[in-house]
Amino acid sequence: MDFNLTEDQLAFREAARAFAVKSMEPHAASWDDEHIFPVDVLKEAGEMGFMGIYTPEALGGMGLSRLDTSVIVEELAAACPSTAAFITIHNMATWMVASFASDDLKQDIVPKLASGEWLASYCLTEPGAGSDAASLRTKAVRDGDSYVINGSKVFISGAGSTDILVLMARTGAADSGAKGISTFVIPANSEGISYGKNEEKMGWHSQPTRMINLENVRIPVTNRVGEEGDGFAIAMKGLDGGRLNIATCSLGGAQAALLRARNYMHEREQFGKPLAAFQALQFKLADMATNLVAARQMVRLGAFKLDQGDTEATLHCAMAKRFATDVCFDVVNDALQLHGGYGYIREYPLERYLRDLRVHQILEGTNEIMRLIVARRLLDNGVAEAIQ
Ligand SMILES: Cc1cc2nc3c(=O)[nH]c(=O)nc-3n(C[C@H](O)[C@H](O)[C@H](O)COP(=O)(O)OP(=O)(O)OC[C@H]3O[C@@H](n4cnc5c(N)ncnc54)[C@H](O)[C@@H]3O)c2cc1C
Repeated sequence: MDFNLTEDQLAFREAARAFAVKSMEPHAASWDDEHIFPVDVLKEAGEMGFMGIYTPEALGGMGLSRLDTSVIVEELAAACPSTAAFITIHNMATWMVASFASDDLKQDIVPKLASGEWLASYCLTEPGAGSDAASLRTKAVRDGDSYVINGSKVFISGAGSTDILVLMARTGAADSGAKGISTFVIPANSEGISYGKNEEKMGWHSQPTRMINLENVRIPVTNRVGEEGDGFAIAMKGLDGGRLNIATCSLGGAQAALLRARNYMHEREQFGKPLAAFQALQFKLADMATNLVAARQMVRLGAFKLDQGDTEATLHCAMAKRFATDVCFDVVNDALQLHGGYGYIREYPLERYLRDLRVHQILEGTNEIMRLIVARRLLDNGVAEAIQ
């Protein structure tokens, strides 16, 4: 693995940084304060290609690797982790349709998603099925050329403001587990769909999170993504990349917080000296930087494994997600501490970064579930190959 970014990756990083600094950073605080979902900026991101970063070019995406994606997303997240995170969820859902839907369905909807004209939600979690997602109960029953879908989804990012739901539902018997689940593309305004209130959250205020109820929602059979029974595997394949994306959003937030802390250490004086003169604080900054770089390397290793189609990619994505989201949350918390009381005040963005990054330890599989994935693999045969 080459640790240097290529010329192209450096150019993507530059373009993403310029976009983030111009179109996201100046507004991030007010999006947070006023709970604004910045749809216009998402459309602008679409014009840049950022709504279909790893979607094939033939379907209107940029056709880039997961490593390239991580380089781009980190810059967006440095400006606004919450908005960048929605962009990545949209990318994940778009990639799932682009990779597994029929040619007609792909041609119909993926170009509109990749351009940002339409927005997508990823709908897996249910009130009774979170970490144990394979126990989901939303049912899709075949009726001639249609499926009729009944059930509810909870905590769905973007719900109520997106155009397409990429939704996992049970097509098998109640006890069919992961093998009885299928994936569907559902127009978000279909008859029978209703949305709950925008959940009041600790962070991620620049994107809505809502419950979705589905009552006799009828969609054509052609809206199924992949074969009947393949839906859980498709959802998990989406999440391998999704977990790297969320980990990358943590990297961006932590990088921005660390730079602010570093600058503040030069500006702020106490006991007649800048904070930068106190060795205890120098050591804290050194540890923050060291942990951040380690986390970034793990994310890039996971991305490399995914790009290579490595059989252990899922393991590496889970390790990277667990490590990066934990470490980066701590980096932001330390950056806040280095700002003293000002870190706690909303005029500074540290507390926003902290609130935004906290949920990365919970969603797209909690960090406990990441440990479960890693431990299960290690306790299988073939441990050496898995982690070498
Ligand atoms: C802001 C936000 C946005 C979200 N967006 C989406 C979205 O767009 N689409 C979507 O489908 N979902 C979304 N989610 C849902 C998210 O993925 C789930 O909240 C998450 O998977 C955890 O499920 P749960 O909340 O039901 O917790 P539970 O599964 O009930 O877990 C509760 C606690 O128990 C732990 N736990 C559970 N099982 C085990 C075990 N076997 N071993 C050890 N510990 C265990 C968990 O780690 C957790 O700490 C979102 C959630 C939030 C908060």
